[in-house]
Amino acid sequence: MWVDLLAEEIRRTRPAPRHVVNDAKSPSGRVHVGSLRGVILHDCVARALADRGAAVEFLYGYDDYDPLDGLPAGRDDLAAHLGRPLCDVPSPDPAAAPSFARYYGDEFTAIFTRLGARPRVYWTSELYREGVFDDAIRVALDRASEIIELDRAISGSRKAERHPVQVVCEACGKIGTTVVVGWDGALVAYACRPDKVAWAQGCGHEGRRSPFRGGSKLQYITEWAAKWRLFGVTVEGAGKDHMTRGGSHDRASAIVEAIYGGRPPFPIAYEWFLVGGRKMASSRGVGVPAAEFADLLRPELARFAIVRPHFRQQVNFDPGGETIPLLYDEFDRAARAYFGREDDPDLARTFYYAHAGGGMADVFRLRFARVAHLCQIPSVDIAAVAEAEKGGALTPADRAELDARVADARRWLETYAPPHYRFEVQPALPDTAAALTPEQRRFLAALVPLVEQALAGEELHAAIHALKGEHGLAPKAAFGAIYQAFLGKDSGPQAGWFLAALDRDFVVRRLREAAGQAG
Ligand SMILES: [Zn+2]
Repeated sequence: MWVDLLAEEIRRTRPAPRHVVNDAKSPSGRVHVGSLRGVILHDCVARALADRGAAVEFLYGYDDYDPLDGLPAGRDDLAAHLGRPLCDVPSPDPAAAPSFARYYGDEFTAIFTRLGARPRVYWTSELYREGVFDDAIRVALDRASEIIELDRAISGSRKAERHPVQVVCEACGKIGTTVVVGWDGALVAYACRPDKVAWAQGCGHEGRRSPFRGGSKLQYITEWAAKWRLFGVTVEGAGKDHMTRGGSHDRASAIVEAIYGGRPPFPIAYEWFLVGGRKMASSRGVGVPAAEFADLLRPELARFAIVRPHFRQQVNFDPGGETIPLLYDEFDRAARAYFGREDDPDLARTFYYAHAGGGMADVFRLRFARVAHLCQIPSVDIAAVAEAEKGGALTPADRAELDARVADARRWLETYAPPHYRFEVQPALPDTAAALTPEQRRFLAALVPLVEQALAGEELHAAIHALKGEHGLAPKAAFGAIYQAFLGKDSGPQAGWFLAALDRDFVVRRLREAAGQAG
């Protein structure tokens, strides 16, 4: 399983008694689902290293001293704040969070916490203001031209503006618009340029200030390198766009080695995790907020969907069609493998890494598609069906598992379930039943005595199959007749279980009515 393989490779190439696993994100709006793959990947690797006896610290950083460099959709009112650090941009809801960065960061933290990832969260703005980066800033100012040359050599870019330090303008509070024009070892001279960047306008102020304790920040490549050194990061992955040759990871690696005397962490370049499907609020897959994905399924299943594919495989998760029932079936197979009832070591480990906290008991798992069908049948006691199938009473853990499935199924039926999974038992004989053929009507009439025998779902299902054969009906004609009589459509759940779960007198009355023998 890829997490175990990564952990083994880390142990081989970066042996250390203590590992620091770091992931980070600039909270510049609602955090997208691709970043969730990042957190879960790092959480799994941290778990795997800890399991192998290492002391592990798992960090998650919100880079909220980064400037706001674009407006979230529908937030043109924030235009005046472009260029300010994210921690200084107003919160969409000041009662919920004190800043723009906090608002979106806290939302994302709540999501990955629910999915079982519990890193120590840090906010870069706090570290700057506490002076944690001061030494790194001093080094960057002292050796600025060396850093710029090094960065140009690695990136192959001749772009002029890559001074490793960005000063906060004392006049307008922007950090994205300033350039450093002098440094005397105590104060940094800077200019706030109206035209430095296309996305924000500086105020024209020129001044001198201390770069320390929040007076400036490191440009993000140098900041990445400084963090690795400061925190002693040994493992840090990033989306593949950062991991290209001469890309940001290579540039930060060169700086940490040449300037800060540190070692780049073990890199993990992971692929996109897209969420597709016509019904998602954002149509562009990569832009789907993590919250929308996490709302689809309970934590273990959402996590399983992320952990199951290899990290180098691009995922386009479309919650429509058969995706969710198949995911659940795969999850159940993984559980059987984990508890030794199926031989699939890879899936067994996937189940382990999908664990989101709480118990990992070997519970009874009623198939998701069954649950989705059952919870649409009025008056059915799903727990009783589960007990019958289990062949014994449900334990509290069985019951909790079933409740989670029912909740997922109901949500799925309201949102992404394809029409053939959705049905509603019609209170009166549907008009469409008038189109039933004489053969179908005879078949329904013959079904009455079978239903009256009060068979269990499985036996009734077998009996219906036998009856269909006796009547020489194709499956579609036979089962279609049942669905038309009860649901007013051509397809539906497995008929035996379906009819067995309904009130028997109701079923008999309806069959007679549909057969034309009402009364
Ligand atoms: Zn300014």
